[in-house]
Amino acid sequence: MKKYVGIGVYGAVAEGKIAIYGKEDYAPEKVYRRDVPGEKARLEAAREAVREQLEVSRVRTLEEVGPREAQIFEVHKILLDDGEFLGAVYRVMEREGVSAEYAVAVTAEELADRFAALADHCLKARAADIRDISRRLVACLQGRPCERGEMEEPGVICAQDLSPGETASLDREKVLGIVTARGSLYSHTAILARARGIPAVVGVGEAFLEEAREGTPVMVDGCAGEVYLDPDAETREVLLRKMGKRQEEKCFLEALKGKADRTLDGSAVNICANIGGAGELEAVLENDAGGIGLFRSEFLYLGRDTYPTEEEQFGAYRKALENMAGKRVVIRTLDIGGDKQADYFGLRKEENPAMGYRAIRICLTRPEIFKTQLRALFRASAYGRLGILFPMITGVAELEKALEICREVKEELRARGIPFSENVEMGIMIETPAAAILSDRLAPLVDFFSVGTNDLTQFTLACDRQNPEVQPFVDPRHEAVLRLIRMSAENAHRNGAWIGICGELAADTGLTETFLRMGIDELSVSPPLVLKLRAAVRSLDLSREEEEL
Ligand code: PEP
Ligand code: MG
Repeated sequence: MKKYVGIGVYGAVAEGKIAIYGKEDYAPEKVYRRDVPGEKARLEAAREAVREQLEVSRVRTLEEVGPREAQIFEVHKILLDDGEFLGAVYRVMEREGVSAEYAVAVTAEELADRFAALADHCLKARAADIRDISRRLVACLQGRPCERGEMEEPGVICAQDLSPGETASLDREKVLGIVTARGSLYSHTAILARARGIPAVVGVGEAFLEEAREGTPVMVDGCAGEVYLDPDAETREVLLRKMGKRQEEKCFLEALKGKADRTLDGSAVNICANIGGAGELEAVLENDAGGIGLFRSEFLYLGRDTYPTEEEQFGAYRKALENMAGKRVVIRTLDIGGDKQADYFGLRKEENPAMGYRAIRICLTRPEIFKTQLRALFRASAYGRLGILFPMITGVAELEKALEICREVKEELRARGIPFSENVEMGIMIETPAAAILSDRLAPLVDFFSVGTNDLTQFTLACDRQNPEVQPFVDPRHEAVLRLIRMSAENAHRNGAWIGICGELAADTGLTETFLRMGIDELSVSPPLVLKLRAAVRSLDLSREEEEL
């Protein structure tokens, strides 16, 4: 048995076999195979298997996400059958007498490089598709699962790192747990793992991956941040007992469904859920959240090659509003940039993307993208109770500009006779120290504030949330951050606005009393954490003297 320590992301225990989610290991070595017809037959069998995999992915994406996203797999099927590509692979096998996997990899890489060098964005993007098909074929020929995340057997995903898009597309039925060599608690990957209720430990270090082998038994303690490779009987017993305890706790929390989010002395707070797409609505309803406090709309833009259309966005927002049946749904406008990158935006590589050209900065300088999203949002507002939230605000002028664009969009919809609600609440993220410091000037312009403690902490403490090395320097309960939140709450209330917290700190039950005493009106957390927070709120008595933290 070997034990590795990282950062626990979601407090649950998982047991399973390792499923390596590799990126680097697919480059096959140059192996000579004289039996060319045999290699061709292997390649044909692999193509057939990949075709089936693509169809499974297409159908699942169609059901779970939407028709446009499902189209990606149609494109991949066309590539798989492309005569020119296949002809080139055959020629390499015949000329050099090499294995099918090697011929596929070199041919695809050459082709992908040619596409990547083109100026046209759409053609450039084909490079990624070619590499994806090549990766699938090679994986199949090597006898590994054809698609990353699409495992044949349930298992614990082990990877160097996962992108937010990859984490979002993992098959929840098959993924028992996640272990990554890199990553930090506040990365979007961690947030998504939590949102999907996947026991996960991130940042265990590269040494783990060197030892980890496909199929080895592993246990993941997402609570303690520990990973046990090939656990011994004693460790297994301790962890299984922990799993059992969690089951008991789950039953206790189940009983809180339908109960009010009120303290013993009757103070109320609204406990909501954070989501990244309509696919998580079921979890929101299942956990009886009081609304959606943060819909990270940028996930609609990730993991694809083109901008989502107004219709697609309208469909997703409307679905969220209809499902929440009158409970408030706060949808944040596009927060792309930082660790959430989409190639088709054509953003330059930045030294420091967290403080770069991202979020509202993109929206204000590329209003056509912003307006498409706003049109979809306002149109959807006719179907429920909507709040629109602007990310990364740092001052009054940019907020005024964003609000002005909203007025233009509404005017346009009115002129075209398209219905929308006149009661949409407008809000801003308090996630830069500047916004907190200027909260007295910002509050009169909006209906609500939503505190993004993930970014607010990284910017206040000057600690990159993506960098595991600086995590020991991060005190999430740092007094400076708490003071900024308190100041924002006072300024919100003085100006008749409400204030919520939607960053990960909202789930810290050790701070629930502090937040409630500050007058925070809403706490929004991952769906699986809603009932735990409800239990914490219901055990508080604010009429008692405040205890020291
Ligand atoms: C935050 O910064 O706290 C937040 C909620 O936004 P995100 O994590 O998506 O940056
Ligand atoms: Mg943020």
